Amino acid sequence: MNTLKWKVANANGKTEVEIQGAITEDADLNGLLALEGSGLLALDLAGVVQINSCGVREWIHFVRKLSDGDRGFELVRCSPAIVRQLNTIANFRGAGSVRSVMLPYYCSSCRSEAQVPLDLTGASREIADEIPCAKCGGTMEFDDMPSTYVSFAG
Ligand SMILES: [Zn+2]
Repeated sequence: MNTLKWKVANANGKTEVEIQGAITEDADLNGLLALEGSGLLALDLAGVVQINSCGVREWIHFVRKLSDGDRGFELVRCSPAIVRQLNTIANFRGAGSVRSVMLPYYCSSCRSEAQVPLDLTGASREIADEIPCAKCGGTMEFDDMPSTYVSFAG
């Protein structure tokens, strides 16, 4: 059973693929290699909720194949699960560039979670410690370490 789903959109000369689910040994990443279309391949990873150790192996294999191909690729809106791997494993992104990540926030008043994109291509990579909670009007706190969250980006 494939634990992963994806949706393809072609826009602005790019092929954007929204990837959702868990990357495990059951995730069929080969289907992504066979995608039609040309131009840059942008992999939107905001919906990747989990990646286990077998999934990491599958992913690195996949990224190596992508890196060997003619087509450029980039990782966008990387979920916290993906960011964790980017920080730990040097070749997790292969030849791809990481354009943006998702920042996790948590509101202790109403226990809601939110994710906010952070653009890594801009001048500022500042992570706000707190943002307003859209649900209860309280304060959401960054749910990780601001100083090290995007340490892979240098
Ligand atoms: Zn709240």
